[in-house]
Amino acid sequence: MLQCLSAEPALLGHPSSRCQLPRRALLGVSASMLFMRSTLASSGDYEAMLINCIDPRFAASSHAWMRAKHMQNQFSQFVIAGGPIGAMHPYFAAWHRAFWDNLDITTEFHAIKRVIAFTHRDCSAARLAFGAAGVATPAAETANHAALLQAFRTEVARRKPGLDVVAGIMALDGSIEPV
Ligand SMILES: [Zn+2]
Repeated sequence: MLQCLSAEPALLGHPSSRCQLPRRALLGVSASMLFMRSTLASSGDYEAMLINCIDPRFAASSHAWMRAKHMQNQFSQFVIAGGPIGAMHPYFAAWHRAFWDNLDITTEFHAIKRVIAFTHRDCSAARLAFGAAGVATPAAETANHAALLQAFRTEVARRKPGLDVVAGIMALDGSIEPV
């Protein structure tokens, strides 16, 4: 049994790690990971990656939108504060690579066709990125979100030619204003 769930996979079983596993268990883990990889590689043909904010108020609405577009269980999801703002705005520069690396993986393994990029109104991460004045009015909020989402669309096109981007700003009622 795995006793230490917090250890890095690479450290499991290493002599310096306090998290020891029997060799047979390690072999089993490797075999199942290989199986997962080959399964994903051979059967991965999905619709999209959704990138959206960690804000709990928008989780159900985002999934409802995906379901309404017939993409339930057909999308990977990258959840990060601000969604596309976290992946793109210089304020969160340390996070950017994680997103683009994940986009590489989901395009390779899941053969996604598009990225669904949602920001949302009244977003704490947007306030950090754009400043209080940048989200003080609906017009300022819209302008800053729209500019960010356009930059996101341009960057996806540069890195992944042919991958569509569907972008929008989600309101508190779950409706989407396309950008
Ligand atoms: Zn947010």
